[in-house]
Amino acid sequence: MLWTSRRTMDKREAGPAQVDVVVRGGLVVDGAGMQKYDILIKDGTVVGRAAPGQKVEAKRVVDASGKLVLPGVIDAHNHPVYSDRIGTLSVSAALGGVTTVISFIGAIKAWGKTGSLLDAARDFIEEGEAGSVIDFCAHGSLVRDDLETIEETIPKLVELGVTSFKGFMAYSKRGMKLEDNDLLRVMRVIGAHGGLFCVHAENGTMLDYLQDTFIAAGRITPEYHALAQPNIAESEAVLRIAALASVVECPVYLVHLSARQSLDVVRMWRGWGGSIVYAETCTHYLTLSNADLLARGSLGKVGPPLREKGDVEALWEAIREGAIDVVASDFAGHTTKNKEPIWDDIFKAPAGLPGVGNLLTVVYDEGVNRGRITIPRLVELLCERPAKIFGLYPRKGALRPGSDADLVLFDPTVEHVIRASGQRLNTDYSMYEGRRCVGAPVLVMQRGRVIVEDGEVKASPGQGSYVPRASRKTA
Ligand SMILES: [Zn+2]
Repeated sequence: MLWTSRRTMDKREAGPAQVDVVVRGGLVVDGAGMQKYDILIKDGTVVGRAAPGQKVEAKRVVDASGKLVLPGVIDAHNHPVYSDRIGTLSVSAALGGVTTVISFIGAIKAWGKTGSLLDAARDFIEEGEAGSVIDFCAHGSLVRDDLETIEETIPKLVELGVTSFKGFMAYSKRGMKLEDNDLLRVMRVIGAHGGLFCVHAENGTMLDYLQDTFIAAGRITPEYHALAQPNIAESEAVLRIAALASVVECPVYLVHLSARQSLDVVRMWRGWGGSIVYAETCTHYLTLSNADLLARGSLGKVGPPLREKGDVEALWEAIREGAIDVVASDFAGHTTKNKEPIWDDIFKAPAGLPGVGNLLTVVYDEGVNRGRITIPRLVELLCERPAKIFGLYPRKGALRPGSDADLVLFDPTVEHVIRASGQRLNTDYSMYEGRRCVGAPVLVMQRGRVIVEDGEVKASPGQGSYVPRASRKTA
C-alpha cells in the first residue's frame, strides 16, 4: 500500500473541542496519498482532523476502522432525461458513493421542447431541488437552434452557476451537430465568460456517410454500430476541436474518449504546448468491448461505441500516465422496452448506458484490484480532478478543512454481485449483470449527514441541493 510521509499531526489541526461527527479510525485518501487520521465535522463541513484515537467530543462517532475514507465521488457526466430523471438517478448514484452529479440539461430543442436553455436550466434545478437525494450541478447543452441566442443566454447561465456547455460535432440528423464555424462562435462566447466547452468529438460527416451506406445496403444489425462510428472519426474530431478552441481561447473538455488513437492526439496536443484540453473516459470504455454489444444487442449501444480490447488497455495506460483526467458514468437510463429494436435495427435503437451506481465499484475493482491504478489515483479521477476542472474544488472533491463533509466509507474487502434490481432505477438492465466485484461503499455522508448506510438510502427526495459553480473568471 502507498503511504504518504506527511509530517506528524499538528496540534493546531486538531479542531474545536465539540464537533457534530467524528469519523474515526479510517484510512483517509486524497490524490496525494493515504493517511490514518480522524475527520472532524461540524455544521456539515469538515473542520479539522485529529490523530487516531485522540480524544474528541462529538455527538456522533462513525467507526471507520478497516475502511477507506474517500471524498464523495463526483459524476461529471450524466443525462437524467430519459427513463430515469434526477430523482431516481440520484438514489442509484448515492448507493454507489456518488455525492454530487453534474448533469447535462437540454438540449431542449433537440428533444422537441420549447423554451430557451435558461428555461431548461431553471426547470432542471427546480426538479432537482424537489427530488434529488444528493447535491447536483448542471452543464448546459447547445444545439444548432440555440445559436441565435447564445450571446444572451450564456452569460445568464454562467450567473446561475452553469459554467460548462456541451456541443456536438456529430448527429446532424437529430439537429445537434455544430459545424466548425458554429463551434468557433460558441467557444468564443463561452471562453469570454470564463466557461468550459464540453464536446462530443466525432466527425459527423463520416458518421452520417457510413450509417447511410450501411442502411442502404440493409446492413443494420448490431455489428454495424461500431463500424459506423470508427476510431478515426473520434480522433480526427479531437484534433480539430483542440485546434479550433485554441483560436478563440476557450478551454475544452473532451467527453467520453473511447479510441486509442484519440489518446495519442491528446498527448501530441499537450506536447505541442497547445491550449487547455481535458480528457474524460467512462466506466464502460474501461471495462466493456464491442463483444458486449454483440452479446446484448442495442442494450449495449452507446455513442461512441464500445471498442476493442486494445482500446480498453490503451485507456488504462492513459489513466496511469495522465492523458485522461476524469472517469465519469455518462449515465443515460433507458428501459429494455425503450431500447427496442434490440436486434433488428441498431440504427433505430436509442444510445446510452446506465451505470452511475457502478462508477466507483467497477473502476475500483478493475483499476485497483487488478493493479492498474493506486487508490489515490482513483480519488484523483473520480473526485479531485472533476472538482477542480468544473469549479467545485475544494468545496467538493476533498476532505480539507472547509470542504463539505461529503464522504464515502469504502470497505475494500466486501464482495458483491451487480444486479439490475439493485440499481434502484427505472432502467431495468445492467451491462454488468452478474459481475462479481470486491470493494463497496458501506456508508455515504453528505454535508455531515448519513445518506446511505448498509445498502439503504437514508436521505429523502429534495435533501440534495443545487450547487452553483464558479466560472474561471471568478474562481
Ligand atoms: Zn453523454
